[in-house]
Amino acid sequence: MPSRPDGIVIAIDGPSGAGKSTIARLLAERLGYIQIDTGAMFRAAALLLSLAGVDLDDLAAVEQFCRTIDIRLELESGRQVVRANGADVTDKIRSAEMSLLTSLTATLKPVREALLKAQQQMGSRGGVVLEGRDIGTVVFPDAEIKFYLSASVAERARRRCEELISKGEPVSLAETVADVEKRDQQDSERDIAPLRQADDALLIDSSHLSIDEVLSSMEAICRKKIENMGTTL
Ligand code: C5P
Repeated sequence: MPSRPDGIVIAIDGPSGAGKSTIARLLAERLGYIQIDTGAMFRAAALLLSLAGVDLDDLAAVEQFCRTIDIRLELESGRQVVRANGADVTDKIRSAEMSLLTSLTATLKPVREALLKAQQQMGSRGGVVLEGRDIGTVVFPDAEIKFYLSASVAERARRRCEELISKGEPVSLAETVADVEKRDQQDSERDIAPLRQADDALLIDSSHLSIDEVLSSMEAICRKKIENMGTTL
């Protein structure tokens, strides 16, 4: 039996607002693969820690708490649902405030260790598109395909701002630029599993490309790889 019976592992890393989630969802749909949004898992963990009032400076308490958390990504009537200890937190985890809190929480070793195991288990059969910050470098360094999706700060902030406003969160472009820069800094300067492009990752700059252009080129690369490996879709 092949080590990944359901197909290959596709890793998509990159900073916030580069379009990873949209691209990962559409790419997974086209390939008949499962999308694993690891950012959503970090967001759900951050929400649980915050609701429980766990002191983030007390790593022993964080570790203890992380043993009790159960985060699942489920597909319900075609919609990706994030469940944290059974509760649907899909919408709650998307605010600008949660983004910054998540970025801070994601620097903590016990949080990363708990989620690393869960992510590796979820992707172990292959047939998955995982998106995050450290998929190609830490979670699946042996992923068959690695993409690093990026875009300029201005363009990422513009997209993020549009998304938040469409969800009814009144944010300004200036504050979104500041949030994006802060998150970039926190994510790339942390000690454990910082955001960085894996040596063997393909860099795609989506600043001046449409979703469809990015998706088509990534899909072509994936299909070629899958064909060459003799893995059926
Ligand atoms: O991708 P998204 O913006 O939802 O991720 C939220 C935060 O979760 C990121 O800013 C980052 O701090 C953290 N994260 C991470 N490692 C991942 C995915 C997300 O540290 N693989």
